[in-house]
Amino acid sequence: MRPLVRWAKASKERRLGRQCGENGLKMMWPIVGLSAAVGGALGAFLYYACTVPSSQILGPTLVRGPAEGRRIALTFDDGPLSPFTEQVLDILRERRVPATFFVCGKNVERFPEILRRVHEEGHGLGNHTYSHPFLFSCSRAQMAAQIDRTQAAIEKLTGYRPGLFRPPYGIRWFGIFGLLRERGMQMVQWSATGFDWKLGTEDIVREALKGVQPGAVILLHDGVGRARPARMDRSATIRALPAIIDAARNAGLTFVKVQDFLPVA
Ligand SMILES: [Zn+2]
Repeated sequence: MRPLVRWAKASKERRLGRQCGENGLKMMWPIVGLSAAVGGALGAFLYYACTVPSSQILGPTLVRGPAEGRRIALTFDDGPLSPFTEQVLDILRERRVPATFFVCGKNVERFPEILRRVHEEGHGLGNHTYSHPFLFSCSRAQMAAQIDRTQAAIEKLTGYRPGLFRPPYGIRWFGIFGLLRERGMQMVQWSATGFDWKLGTEDIVREALKGVQPGAVILLHDGVGRARPARMDRSATIRALPAIIDAARNAGLTFVKVQDFLPVA
């Protein structure tokens, strides 16, 4: 082959190679884009399924009760914790309002007398795990232990075994519904909240009242999840509570326990 022809051939091969590389890269983009879109959609789906309170994707979840009867349920999570749970109980007693307390087993053991008082004053009790973990960080056996240890702590003090479960942070995870089914328990979320883990009194009242309507399940907090009890101040919730109760009553609503929203078996 003459040098000129050799040069022309090599140059053509280089050009072809470059084009091929460029074409390959161009062809890669739709695949990268598609993977990102599928990954993003899966992530969004998983996020919705696990964290949106009203989602029913992972399993049957009570979010609100029936609108008939103009009933409403107040719920308090993370207790018991002194003095806040007692202050909530005082307000509820004064206004003759029943509520439901989703308690953590660890706090039940810290404040057994308060747990007994909750039960004796006729309020509902629900299981909110033992130590308030993210369920996605637990194995199935660990989730089972979180439920069972709390059931045992409550039953030992009251003789009552709750039929309701609310997951910490409202985040459900794979396997939890099977465990609840085995124990004949019902998953409960909420339809409205005062966002009382981050707002002041007036804002708690405003946010909670946005969701005050027949069948509503309102989420508030009387206790402590993972933080140290001494660092927990629920006084904004305590100050907000009378206004929330009075506004709901003025709207013609009656307070019930979450248990009252379930069909009688
Ligand atoms: Zn909680």
